[in-house]
Amino acid sequence: ADKILEVRNLKKHFSTPKGLLHAVDGVNFSIERGKTLGVVGESGCGKSTTGRVILRLLEATDGEILFEGKNIRDFSKEEMRRLREEMQIIFQDPFASLNPRMTVSEIIGEPLIIHKMCKNKDEIAARVRELMDTVGLSQRLLNTYPHELDGGRRQRIGIARALALNPKFIVCDEPVSALDVSIQAQVLNLMQDLQAKLGLTYIFITHDLSVVKHFSDDIAVMYLGQLVEKAPASKLFKNPSHPYTKALLSAIPVASLSHKMERVRLEGEITSPINPEPGCRFAKRCTYATPECGHGDPRLLEIAEDHFVACHLIEGMMD
Ligand code: SF4
Ligand code: MG
Repeated sequence: ADKILEVRNLKKHFSTPKGLLHAVDGVNFSIERGKTLGVVGESGCGKSTTGRVILRLLEATDGEILFEGKNIRDFSKEEMRRLREEMQIIFQDPFASLNPRMTVSEIIGEPLIIHKMCKNKDEIAARVRELMDTVGLSQRLLNTYPHELDGGRRQRIGIARALALNPKFIVCDEPVSALDVSIQAQVLNLMQDLQAKLGLTYIFITHDLSVVKHFSDDIAVMYLGQLVEKAPASKLFKNPSHPYTKALLSAIPVASLSHKMERVRLEGEITSPINPEPGCRFAKRCTYATPECGHGDPRLLEIAEDHFVACHLIEGMMD
């Protein structure tokens, strides 16, 4: 398999007045070139932080980030500048991430200028028009401002801007969460078409499992800074195994699932990610919790081919 990205024991801790916040706490995964890894979890689980740490928009506290086999945490500023052309990000709220005083053509053209991708103004203008075509934006919008456009078009601008430097790898952080459901499908289809056409690899971050269901090759479920389950998407939906994944899946409307699941409510206090106690971080909300669950972090174990789960109960059943 041609791994484009692998993270090993990735950690990002933040100092806070109350103690050390374990936002990302020992995450391991890899992605094959041209595939999509969906990263799913509730807000605060560390999924966005993971995406930013991988792009070195935030510096990791520990661990390795291997991009095409090289640990990019060792890269110099100049090496990182070149790497920026290959790794991009699409943000959740296109409006907040776009400069309101710049026109559509200026926004899409800016990375071309910063990275000196074009020889002159004419080349920039031609490339901007080409990018607008690629994402399905009419050339009539060249001189409009983001606030004049609807959310779907604004997100297309964000995508065009991310594509400007011909990246190989894109972190998509809740790219459709701020959009109406009808527009969501259009943008997801566009992203899938672009992936096929340009051979892109995606990390697709979302709190909404139904969004990544048809889109992801693999899905990683995060809870309080750690991966609790990872599997090919079809396996995860057919045989969700971690109690947290089951709860997330049971919240999806039945019509979009192949089989009926009993609704599992998420109750109980969420463990604090600040100075977390040893043991499973889901224990306070888990209906299956036993005293043993407080003894040490559950390890991510392979329960079936390519299907990994971190749960003491499941580990016990495997012995
Ligand atoms: Fe629940 Fe225990 Fe498994 Fe954690 S380790 S998910 S508390 S059964
Ligand atoms: Mg987020």
